[in-house]
Amino acid sequence: MFFVINWNKAIKVSEVLFFNYRRGKKTVYEGIKALLQKLPLTKVVSKDDLVAIKVHMGELGNVTHIRPGIVREIVKFVKAAGGQPFVTDTTTLYPHARWTAMKYLQTAAANGFTGESMGAPIIIADGLLGYDGTKRPVSRRVEGCDLGEVEVAQSIAEADAMVVVSHAKGHIIAGFGGAIKNVGMGCLTKRGKAAIHRTDLAEINAENCSGCGKCVEICVYGAMRIEDGKAQRDIEKCMNCNSCYFNCPNKAMKIPNDASNRLQVYLAHGTAASLEKFDGKVCFINVIQDVTPLCDCAAHAGNPVVADVGILASMDPVAIDKASLDLIDCAELVPGALAEDGPDRLGRINHADCTIQMRVAKKLGMGELKYQIIEI
Ligand code: SF4
Ligand code: SF4
Repeated sequence: MFFVINWNKAIKVSEVLFFNYRRGKKTVYEGIKALLQKLPLTKVVSKDDLVAIKVHMGELGNVTHIRPGIVREIVKFVKAAGGQPFVTDTTTLYPHARWTAMKYLQTAAANGFTGESMGAPIIIADGLLGYDGTKRPVSRRVEGCDLGEVEVAQSIAEADAMVVVSHAKGHIIAGFGGAIKNVGMGCLTKRGKAAIHRTDLAEINAENCSGCGKCVEICVYGAMRIEDGKAQRDIEKCMNCNSCYFNCPNKAMKIPNDASNRLQVYLAHGTAASLEKFDGKVCFINVIQDVTPLCDCAAHAGNPVVADVGILASMDPVAIDKASLDLIDCAELVPGALAEDGPDRLGRINHADCTIQMRVAKKLGMGELKYQIIEI
């Protein structure tokens, strides 16, 4: 981070390194190497550190997640820096192909992520069922957030350092998913995720409910029941996974209007609490490629909306996400894409203002919205 003098006040600006797919003559692997060589990685990785390489290995059927080869190159670099890397992610709240560690490992293998392909172990950080974690206090709160603590997945809580490797793409509620989303949701246990997703729990509209019972069938937490011919939710048992919403055949549930704003506020707090103990031993890599309207949790995340942009690296999660958004807004649209020209393309597709997560993260002291791009 450095300072730019504007009139009489200093503005903080963070550096974001950019490997531009359009300009470089380098291969993607050479580009990653060049990015990592320019990052102050020695501040992040010390000899024998356990280094979590936090990725999302994609839902079963998703083919637009981060390419395994990109992660393998990062593993090599962490090893060369003296660290002991492991590739990691956490289980999902909803009962699909990454719901438990065993299911996730099978899905990861199907998507090309194995110990052999990575050159490092793959560890599902929140344990066999997704409940192994360490509570971390939310030391500072803004914008009406009432989270007292978050539960960070155990293997991430125990790591000495972390490289957060994020796919920059859309998200159905937050509008955009990058570094902040990857940490603020992806580093948490099921209980941690449930606390954040409380903000976007769908409300039941009894008028439209036929009492068909599909939501009771789908709810693996036993939180739904039919009473007097209508769906009822036991809020104590509910884990806010929204599976009932997505599977209701009668559209008898609705996501609250303020869900996107609130989810992003809570995501930023989850990120701050998860990163605090690393004390700066974290760096961020955003891959702006296959920029789909939806996230990698979707089996089909939609067709990419812009031409592939490149890879960013920074020590600042706020700056790297803001730079990713801005580069997506400037990128050439794919013919027939869902997106339009203009600012916040991904936000507009998803009916969200996806800069909220970054603005709140800045308020929490995580980084800067202003950045300087340095092309490598
Ligand atoms: S799935 Fe929808 S319509 Fe069926 S009982 Fe549940 S809320 Fe009602
Ligand atoms: S009631 Fe709905 S949101 Fe709550 S845990 Fe069950 S399926 Fe998920």
